[in-house]
Amino acid sequence: MKTIYVDNAATTAMSDRAIEAMTPYLKGVYGNPSSLHTVGQIAKEALDSAREKIANCLGANPNEIYFTSGGSEADNQAIRSAAILGARKGKKHIISTAFEHHAVLHTLKKLEKEGFEVTYLDVHENGIVTAEEVKAAIRPDTALVTIMYANNEVGTIQPIRKIGEVCREAGVVFHTDAVQAVGHIPVDVKADNIDMLSLSGHKFHGPKGVGALYCKKGLPLLTFVEGGAQERGKRAGTENIAGIASMAAALEEAVENLEENSQREAALRDRLIAGLSKIPHSKLNGDRERRLPGNVNMCFEGIEGESLLLLLDSKGICASSGSACTSGSLDPSHVLLALGLPHEVAHGSLRLSLSEYNTEEEIDEIIAAVPKVVEYLRNISPIWEDLEKGKKHHII
Ligand SMILES: *Cc1c(COP(=O)(O)O)cnc(C)c1O
Repeated sequence: MKTIYVDNAATTAMSDRAIEAMTPYLKGVYGNPSSLHTVGQIAKEALDSAREKIANCLGANPNEIYFTSGGSEADNQAIRSAAILGARKGKKHIISTAFEHHAVLHTLKKLEKEGFEVTYLDVHENGIVTAEEVKAAIRPDTALVTIMYANNEVGTIQPIRKIGEVCREAGVVFHTDAVQAVGHIPVDVKADNIDMLSLSGHKFHGPKGVGALYCKKGLPLLTFVEGGAQERGKRAGTENIAGIASMAAALEEAVENLEENSQREAALRDRLIAGLSKIPHSKLNGDRERRLPGNVNMCFEGIEGESLLLLLDSKGICASSGSACTSGSLDPSHVLLALGLPHEVAHGSLRLSLSEYNTEEEIDEIIAAVPKVVEYLRNISPIWEDLEKGKKHHII
C-alpha cells in the first residue's frame, strides 16, 4: 500500500544527499579520528569539515559545536551543565515553559528533586511566551532560561531573538531546544542572542542517533560522558563519523533550500488547514501565523485522537496524535493542556507534520479522508451523542 507520511516532526526520511555523504565512512574510510596515522587523519578531516558546515549553517564558529547522540543528549548536557555551574555561584533558579519536549522537562524535574526551583512560564492559548514575561520572571538567582525555538506538537515559534536579548541584558545563560527549528526556519545563534542550542540530525532529513550542541565560546560546559578527549574533552567516545558527515550534508542541503522548501510546505499546510477546518467543531491549535511551515495540529470534538490515528493508518496516512514519546499513553498531550485545552478536547487531537517531500495530491487525499473518519468515529462515540442531544455543551 502507498503511504502518505505526514509525521515529520517525529522523524524524517533521509535525503539522497545525506545517504551519499554517509556511505564513504561506512565503506572504506573506517579510521578513528584520534589515530595519528593517515587512515585516522582522513576521518579527522571529515569530522572537521562536518563541524565547519554545521557551524556555518548556524552562524557559529566550528569550536562552538559539540557532537552528541541527538537532541535529547544535547538538551540534557546543556541544561544540567548550566544548572550545576549556576548552583556553584548560589544560583538555583531556572526559567522554562510548560510545553517543552520531555528531554527538557524530565531534566528539569530531576533538577527540582535535586533542590533547583523551576518557573514554568504560561504559553497562553496561542502557544507563545513573550520576552516581557521572561524578563519579569528573571531573579538575581536565575541560572538559566531554557525555552524551545519551535514546539514539536503545535509548531509555534517563540520570539527567541527578544528572549535572548532579555537574557543577555540580565547576564543569564540562555539555552534553546531548536530541534524543530534548525533546517526549517532561519536560525542564527549570534543574531538570536543564543548561548546554547540543541539540534538533531533526523529532524531535517539526516540520520537518527546524531545531533549537536552549540555552546558559545567562553561559556563553561560540563562533561557528562567521561572518557577520551573527543569533542575537546566535553563528550567522550569515538565519533560517529558517518552519522556526523551525513547530518552536516543534510543540514547544508536544508539551509540551501530553506526558503523554497518553507514556502512550498507553508502552501501545503495552509491548504490542509483550510480543508480540515470545514469539519464542524474542529479547531486549529497554536498560533495561526507564528508556526512552523510544516505544522498542522487540530482538535476534533467528541473523538479520541488515537482512534483517528489508527483509522488513518489503515488508509496509509501516517500521522500523530501528539508527540511520539507520549503516544501509547492515554494521557492527553502536555502541550495541548499547557495551551489551556480541556482534557476532553485535547484527547481528540491530530498532528500532521509535513516536509518538502509531500505533494498537493497527498494533501488532497488527507482532506478527503479525515472528515469521513471523524464522522465515522463521532457516530459511534457516546460523548458525541451527548453533545448532539444537548446533554453536554460543545466547547469548540
Ligand atoms: C525530536 C526532538 C527532540 C529529541 O531529539 P532526538 O535526537 O530524537 O533525541 C528534542 N526536542 C525536540 C523539540 C524534538 O522535536
